[in-house]
Amino acid sequence: MALKGASLLRRWPSLLSRFPTGSFSQTTAANQSSLQAQTSLYTPDHVAIRETLRKIIDTEINPYVNQWEEAGQFPAHKVFKILGNAGLLGVNKPPEYGGMGLDFSYSIAVAEELGNIRCGGVPMAIGVQSDMATPALTRFGSDELKRQFLAPTIAGDVVVCLGVSEAGAGSDVASIKTTAVKKGDDYIINGSKMWTTSGCQADWMCLLANTSAGPPHRNKSLFCLPMKTPGVQVTKKIEKIGMKSSDTAQIFFEDVRVPSKYLIGEEGMGFTYQMLQFQEERMWGAANVLTTMENIIQETIDYTSQRKVFNQPVLHNQVVHFRLAELATEVELLRSLLYRAVAMYVEGNDVTKLASMAKLKAGRLARELSDSCLQFWGGMGFTNEVLVSRFYRDSRLLSIGAGADEVMLSIICKYMGTLPSKK
Ligand SMILES: Cc1cc2nc3c(=O)[nH]c(=O)nc-3n(C[C@H](O)[C@H](O)[C@H](O)COP(=O)(O)OP(=O)(O)OC[C@H]3O[C@@H](n4cnc5c(N)ncnc54)[C@H](O)[C@@H]3O)c2cc1C
Repeated sequence: MALKGASLLRRWPSLLSRFPTGSFSQTTAANQSSLQAQTSLYTPDHVAIRETLRKIIDTEINPYVNQWEEAGQFPAHKVFKILGNAGLLGVNKPPEYGGMGLDFSYSIAVAEELGNIRCGGVPMAIGVQSDMATPALTRFGSDELKRQFLAPTIAGDVVVCLGVSEAGAGSDVASIKTTAVKKGDDYIINGSKMWTTSGCQADWMCLLANTSAGPPHRNKSLFCLPMKTPGVQVTKKIEKIGMKSSDTAQIFFEDVRVPSKYLIGEEGMGFTYQMLQFQEERMWGAANVLTTMENIIQETIDYTSQRKVFNQPVLHNQVVHFRLAELATEVELLRSLLYRAVAMYVEGNDVTKLASMAKLKAGRLARELSDSCLQFWGGMGFTNEVLVSRFYRDSRLLSIGAGADEVMLSIICKYMGTLPSKK
């Protein structure tokens, strides 16, 4: 499954120029064994990629997160260019378009490491760029389309957003109303999208629209839509309780004309392509919260071991250290489930059921863990000063976005044969 270190670095020359081998290998050696000990999924190559990303997070991202959270937006073009230069926006994308040509487990390693960013909004936008808006284009797009849209996205030269949800259609993707009607060599797009992550900054959108009046699972198509096209209007930046550094837009389309060559793959296959794209998004989302949850447990241990109440550290209360032990166990269980799903996916299996279970569990555990840990911080947990309160707000989205918990349960029930069929 993995490339040997030397071949990885051959495909990834920017890594060597950015981080001289000396400093790179020292920190790698120190942390490799602990990271590898956690898992059977990761090789030294996965760990090397994580180490590289960690340095970027520590120097180029985390020092600015508070500022971006306050501003309600992070500079996506600037951050993505740094990540693109290091090759980190396309670890599992084809080398012909600037990717590293590795398998999906490397994307999961990146997602897990991104959990070290001290907010949820920035990693989410990175995930949209690398693993949510581009898998369908990578798999089904024409060479010309990939050169025009995928290559600059992997390089970090442009920002992409994903236009699936609408004001009247979120969980029920099949009921979207946006249309793309063929007229000569063009499609004319009318409608709107809601909740579009990075929509205020994006250069192009991976857009799902109805291209015929046929059955809802076979009448949809995916398009690459440049956001500067006349008729595209970003009308609103939505205010939210969390994910503050990620901008979320409402976007309208009025007689937007795109050439028919901007269609991704086959007309009518958009719903199927999007459902496939969701599988990676869901595993990515579960991986991304693992590290943050571990960081919060550790920071809660650190805080409660020095904070004294009734003449003893808060941590010495059995209810506190037992609860943290229980939560750490749950995180490990989620990790095992996720790694199994990823390993099977990399081997070409359908992992819809396991990926849905991992996404469901990740959303629920993130809520449970952030609530429990916040409690142990007392009043400090109720301030904006600490990671746990930000995670409490940000992670709430995981049970709603990319398919709500109830949607995951319906999928799992379908696979268990227990979902009543609609008459
Ligand atoms: C911050 C943020 C960023 C987002 N980014 C993007 C993006 O970049 N691109 C994009 O396309 N979308 C994005 N979304 C949209 C997100 O995917 C939707 O919010 C999500 O799919 C839920 O849709 P909805 O909000 O319309 O809720 P609804 O579909 O109205 O659902 C409401 C609730 O109904 C319940 N429910 C749903 N289905 C069932 C069921 N079968 N059985 C029982 N109960 C059920 C659930 O509790 C659900 O939360 C984003 C959303 C947010 C909040």
